[in-house]
Amino acid sequence: MTTTVAFIGLGHMGGPMAANLVSAGYRVLGHDLVESCLSAAVAAGVEAARSAVEAAAVADVVITMLPAGRHVLSLYGPEGLLAAARPGTLFVDCSTIDVADSRAAHAAAEAAGHRSLDAPVSGGVVGAEAGTLTFMAGGEESAFAQAEPLLAVMGKKAVHCGDAGAGQAAKICNNMILGVSMIAVSEAFVLAESLGLSDQALYDVASAASGQCWALTVNCPVPGPVPASPANRDYRPGFAAPLMAKDLQLAANALRAGGIDAELGLRAAELYARFAEGPGADQDFSGIVRAIRAATSNPTDTQKGSTT
Ligand code: NAD
Repeated sequence: MTTTVAFIGLGHMGGPMAANLVSAGYRVLGHDLVESCLSAAVAAGVEAARSAVEAAAVADVVITMLPAGRHVLSLYGPEGLLAAARPGTLFVDCSTIDVADSRAAHAAAEAAGHRSLDAPVSGGVVGAEAGTLTFMAGGEESAFAQAEPLLAVMGKKAVHCGDAGAGQAAKICNNMILGVSMIAVSEAFVLAESLGLSDQALYDVASAASGQCWALTVNCPVPGPVPASPANRDYRPGFAAPLMAKDLQLAANALRAGGIDAELGLRAAELYARFAEGPGADQDFSGIVRAIRAATSNPTDTQKGSTT
């Protein structure tokens, strides 16, 4: 029997993910508040549901791909998806949300007699379209096993990270490494430039030495050394700075909640929040090198850092 999937949130990520499920033979009932997102999904073979609740009521699996935790919790909430779904429905939340919100969503789903998985992704819109996302999942082993065939359609790799919220935890920890390392790599290039060292020379040394990391060798923040990096196309994303700012904010929330003395993670969250609200609003996150360079040549620039 064909598995019926309710897919709620058909935006940049959810739209192509739902389309890939249709291509693989799943019946997908979709819903989005934005008409253009819904009609694009319908053109890809998704059946339009009049409401999220209507889709959940007939689904075997409910996938959500929403902006933030409050959207997930309010959709799950009273008279929402959990109440509408048949008992034992599998809920898979692929949104990137706060670990605490994710755990609350799991608890609500289980209290309503359902199975639940958090399964945030990395790989961006390109990965969503190509079906090459990486999923990091949290929840019971059996829920992960049930979701695996669908995750295999939408992605190339799925890692079961542990219990409820473990997928979100893995996502924010990884992206905190990425945000901090991109700032470190960018500061090193600006320092090298001020010392008269060429970008290429720094790249040639650091990429073969202990400074090697993804932010340097794949997403290099200066044009030249890595031709495919966003720096070579005027910092068109890529991984947009506002998304990095969001993920670092989630990490900062968890750091503060845990009382963890992670100065660099917290500082990276501040720097990316400022960059994403300003010149980085529509840039790849590696564009932060330009903010660092601009602040260097103009010490009054707020990017220079004023918290000390
Ligand atoms: P998006 O804003 O393009 O899509 C979210 C969609 O949810 C929107 O179309 C919105 O209308 C819809 N929505 C909101 N509330 C709804 C409701 N109550 N009912 C139905 N639809 C509703 O965002 P996106 O880029 O697709 O990202 C989705 C999630 O994936 C976010 O949590 C984001 O952090 C995460 N993510 C995004 C990327 C990326 O590169 N875009 C990468 C990794 C993870």
